[in-house]
Amino acid sequence: MRIEAIRTRLRTLGAQPLHEDRVLRDWVRVMDHDRGRRRPDDFLPKPVREALPQLDAELDGLARVISTHPAEDGSARLLVGLADGQTVESVLLPRDGVCVSSQVGCAVGCQFCMTGQSGLIRQVTSGEIVAQVVLARRLRPVKKVVFMGMGEPAHNLDHVLEAIDLLGIEGNIAHKNLVLSTVGDPRVFERLPQGRVKPALALSLHTTKTDLRARLLPRAPRYTARDLVEEGERYARLTGYPIQYQWTLLDGVNDGPDELEALVDLLRGKYAVLNMIPYNTNPGLPFRRPGWDKARAIAAWLFERGVLTKLRDSAGQDVDGGCGQLRARAAGEQPVTLRRTAATA
Ligand code: SF4
Repeated sequence: MRIEAIRTRLRTLGAQPLHEDRVLRDWVRVMDHDRGRRRPDDFLPKPVREALPQLDAELDGLARVISTHPAEDGSARLLVGLADGQTVESVLLPRDGVCVSSQVGCAVGCQFCMTGQSGLIRQVTSGEIVAQVVLARRLRPVKKVVFMGMGEPAHNLDHVLEAIDLLGIEGNIAHKNLVLSTVGDPRVFERLPQGRVKPALALSLHTTKTDLRARLLPRAPRYTARDLVEEGERYARLTGYPIQYQWTLLDGVNDGPDELEALVDLLRGKYAVLNMIPYNTNPGLPFRRPGWDKARAIAAWLFERGVLTKLRDSAGQDVDGGCGQLRARAAGEQPVTLRRTAATA
């Protein structure tokens, strides 16, 4: 269900824009329609009031928690069932964040990602994206939403931007706390500056080498690292918040001195944060997680040379923490064993 379809439905029942906003605000903030002095009986048109129980039931049916997997770091992975039986993953993050999925599966096919192995199964609608936030808010406060779960948001941009608009306007989430993560796509750079809610941007870099990037992210747009950073820098200056560059640290693949020196050359002086995330091992995928000491030394080396680097662990490391692992396990999917290429070995 699209958010715009909910608005159209309310409009046909006689709702004005402020009535639509009120109903959607109640949903996304998990608030009772009867709260406050203005009760629905004295505020909303009668046909809208009468339609609310049915609408609420449909919104509740958009997403439900199938299983919860708490981790030691305070995060919890949720396996979320959608109305047609498909499943996605959401992650409750420490410090009031939630990570949502924007697609079932993903077409980019990153070699190190479990979700990428299934290909794209279907898009997640804007209503289903917001429903993941609503589920999270029923469990914990949510002040930050990151679009870093299953899927490439750029491949479902209409729905993702619709969800971002609602979360930023009615959902009481600061615009800089809405983080759209992408491998880098011209549509993102074109459309994000036009929105009334401009989310923060996370760009998946992973390597400075064009040929290695083409192997690791086989169906990502063919940006060079420098072009990607130039696009990111433009958006960072427009919005006033830094770009988060994502770097999944793969042992022996993208952690050599050549990569690190190129990174310094690329990011020093940029309005940027480099999030370095040691790979979370997926059984069946041919990559290794580097040791924590090695990762820490790399982050410190970069930091000393002027790259604002944050070493992070992927949330829920101890509970099948790699994106797509819960879903694969629940669906009985077998991880695909990929042969390592010379460039990734
Ligand atoms: S890492 Fe992200 S973009 Fe790449 S395949 Fe996985 S979900 Fe898709």
